[in-house]
Amino acid sequence: MARYRGSVCRLCRREGIKLYLKGSRCETEKCAIEKRAYPPGQHGQGRSKFSEYGVQLREKQKVKRIYGVLEKPFRNYFFAADKKKGVTGENLLQNLELRFDNVIYRMGLAPSRNAARQLVRHKHFTVNGKKMDVPSYILRQGDIITPNPSKSKKKPVNEAIANIKNKTLPEWLAFDTDSKQGIVQGMPTREDVKLPIEEQLIVELYSR
Ligand code: SF4
Repeated sequence: MARYRGSVCRLCRREGIKLYLKGSRCETEKCAIEKRAYPPGQHGQGRSKFSEYGVQLREKQKVKRIYGVLEKPFRNYFFAADKKKGVTGENLLQNLELRFDNVIYRMGLAPSRNAARQLVRHKHFTVNGKKMDVPSYILRQGDIITPNPSKSKKKPVNEAIANIKNKTLPEWLAFDTDSKQGIVQGMPTREDVKLPIEEQLIVELYSR
């Protein structure tokens, strides 16, 4: 499947905020935003004034980059959100939060969404006892996530589980480090998404 293979720090610099795409490095002074807080490229330090369309576009790009979703699937998430009852923008964020790779990241089982995606692709986890290697799989309330027993000795997952005790998980997720079992115990709400996102701008963009 196609995916962005360039420098992810460029994406943060383009959006002008930390998108936390590199795990622990994002918290250090090595973060590119700390060193060069302006857009990449030859004209990065020039004036940047966006039209209304430009502002909406940037917001959509930002959310796509946070969750690591390409244009076509993102558009499909939007149309699915639009068909659902409720507020379209909030439905969109809820669907993105329920992606399997995002849940692995939010449970603290991976340092970033990118790392979570790789672990999922390499079949490190099961959903309700079945191996699941699709990062875009949408979880449901009550789904149980456990490390894949055939890969249980792998270091990254075990280290992450050992560190979960020090983390505060969102209310809709829980992980029991003794039984090594996570559960989607609720549905993510808008308040659970702490990222600086103005989802209404994305709705306006797709409604043009
Ligand atoms: Fe973004 Fe992390 Fe790179 Fe900083 S270190 S620019 S937050 S990906």
